[in-house]
Amino acid sequence: MTFEERIIQLRDQLHQYNHAYYNEDKSLVSDFEFDQLLKELQALEKAHPTLQDPSSPTQRVGGSVTKNFPTLLHAERMYSLDNTYSPEELGEWIKRIEKIYGAPIEDFTCELKFDGASINMTYVNGTLQKAVTRGDGTQGDEVTANVKTIKNVPLKLQGDYPAEFDIRGEIILPLEGFKQLNEKRLAAGEEAYRNPRNTASGSLKLQDSAETAQRPLQCFFYALAGELPYATHWESLTKARSWGFTIPKSMQPVSSLDEMLAYIQHWGEQREQLPFEIDGIVIKVNDISVQSQLGFTAKSPRWAISYKFKAEQVSTRLNSVSYQVGRTGAITPVANLEPVQLSGTIVKRASLHNADQIEKLNLRIGDSVYVEKGGEIIPKIMGFDPAKRGALENVIHYITHCPDCQAPLERIPGEAQHYCVNDTQCPPQLIGKIQHFVSRKAMDIDGIGAETIALLFQQGLIYNIADLYRLEKEQLLPLERMAEKSVDNLLAGVAASKQQPFAKVLFGLGIRHVGETVAKRLAAHFGSMLALLQARQEELLAVEDIGEKIVESLNTYFINPDNQRMIQDLTDFGLSMEVEVVEKASSKLDGKTIVVSGVFEKVSRNELKKMIEDNGGKVGSSISSKTSFVVAGASMGPAKKDKANKLNIPLISEDDFLKML
Ligand code: AMP
Ligand code: ZN
Repeated sequence: MTFEERIIQLRDQLHQYNHAYYNEDKSLVSDFEFDQLLKELQALEKAHPTLQDPSSPTQRVGGSVTKNFPTLLHAERMYSLDNTYSPEELGEWIKRIEKIYGAPIEDFTCELKFDGASINMTYVNGTLQKAVTRGDGTQGDEVTANVKTIKNVPLKLQGDYPAEFDIRGEIILPLEGFKQLNEKRLAAGEEAYRNPRNTASGSLKLQDSAETAQRPLQCFFYALAGELPYATHWESLTKARSWGFTIPKSMQPVSSLDEMLAYIQHWGEQREQLPFEIDGIVIKVNDISVQSQLGFTAKSPRWAISYKFKAEQVSTRLNSVSYQVGRTGAITPVANLEPVQLSGTIVKRASLHNADQIEKLNLRIGDSVYVEKGGEIIPKIMGFDPAKRGALENVIHYITHCPDCQAPLERIPGEAQHYCVNDTQCPPQLIGKIQHFVSRKAMDIDGIGAETIALLFQQGLIYNIADLYRLEKEQLLPLERMAEKSVDNLLAGVAASKQQPFAKVLFGLGIRHVGETVAKRLAAHFGSMLALLQARQEELLAVEDIGEKIVESLNTYFINPDNQRMIQDLTDFGLSMEVEVVEKASSKLDGKTIVVSGVFEKVSRNELKKMIEDNGGKVGSSISSKTSFVVAGASMGPAKKDKANKLNIPLISEDDFLKML
């Protein structure tokens, strides 16, 4: 047997053992034997580097180092789920979607809602190509090398899998593994991790994949994404299980609200016995064609919902209240609590939101307060225990001056928040504005984190966002934690940000009430900073979604000479102050609505969609009488074919479509 043959044999064998162990609950060899074979393979691969294979079982050992995780777009957006908290709400959801669908729906699945980090994995020809975190839903971080170390993630599939598909799952850290990890950390004098969920997502972002490999992570898969030839969610996951994915056996088909409630009741009681954390149940419409008719809201699918278990409540002592200043000057009061364990987390602080909320809760320092964790991460104070009250003189007096710059606070009539209006000098506001500017949704500047910005500010190197573009290597090198490499990264990131589109620049300025969507609207409508600066009140108000509050905030911002100067500086540094006009490739598809379906050979689906748009066409999401034609790839679903035939809509092959252009 040649080395090459032996390597292939070992890989096949190890894949086989792994599959049997994780998908069929069968140990075909002892751990010891498995390790021996793996070591042999490692040694052979090391000796024959030309025979490397990105799907080799040795990938699980890790060892590659990733400094910066690249940001990648998801082919299909990763949505969140709407929440319900009571049987009534769940019943209302069913009624709501039946109304939209226009007929009773009696085919659902119930699944556990795993509390970990979501991940999207792409498989091509049966091997794992990439794994990307959910991120903001549209794009996330590529963490493939780390995900490959997770033992139950198949690196090579078996059976009749589609040539290319995405699959989604939740990466979790089981409670036992979390406990052991913390014991080790404490023994080494390090701080304990707070909860399994954050630790799981943190583990995906470790630079050294060998370290990730040490953590007993697992991935539970819960959905395939994209167009695939399966009629139901159940069918698609059953298929996925046969290819080697861990699809939890707890998934169950149900047909009525009563059956859903029985499932919820059962797992509500069993959840304490589970070796990992769940935070609810997910209910999904099973039939994929019904799913696509229900579609999505801006945030979540209409065809799925989560049922959150009742929040756990504990009581603890309110020690003090402190006040934080945000980047817009908004003051957030924060309750400092006697640390207490709550749903697997140690809680030390809770937001009190604003002065009204404090008044409503009628708290005193020293009170024993009830703390609850609902759907959101930040725990809430629900009330106090009248039997254990703090002293009367300990009423909470809301501050009147900024805790950081001592300027008097103001409250805009009609708004709940107090503001420090000293926005040109108050340090946390200045730092916060720069942090916002570099953040991912704004200018997305790599190589400069929140702490670095605080440091540069304290060192007097930056005061506003324009100063970022004045930074020089010699100024940065002497700073603590600033190796030459990090300095180069930082400067390269800053320089690269000049390519960001105008909408991002506008959002990055951090003008109060000008969020991402508003910035996009304004950029698209006015086309340039100059036009926006010159726009009159009525013109601004005429733009969709732009109300008085926003217009007033824009005025206040643009009238300020410091801001004017800064915008001028940014313009001089070469940032985009205009919407870039994209040249259309042609108008060959003007007026046509085209649906793309199936898997393609020469170009990806996303490329196809872009080609349609570049040539003047519109991409349709589902086949209807308005569809001009369908570009049909391999494994286009039979239901879709029928529909196209019924409506007499032509199907065009990939090749013919490419010839058209
Ligand atoms: P949320 O983040 O609360 O909006 O809930 C959506 C997230 O729940 C998804 O992004 C998944 O990461 C996670 N999740 C956990 N288990 C499931 C499941 N069985 N089906 C769908 N999503 C799930
Ligand atoms: Zn201040």
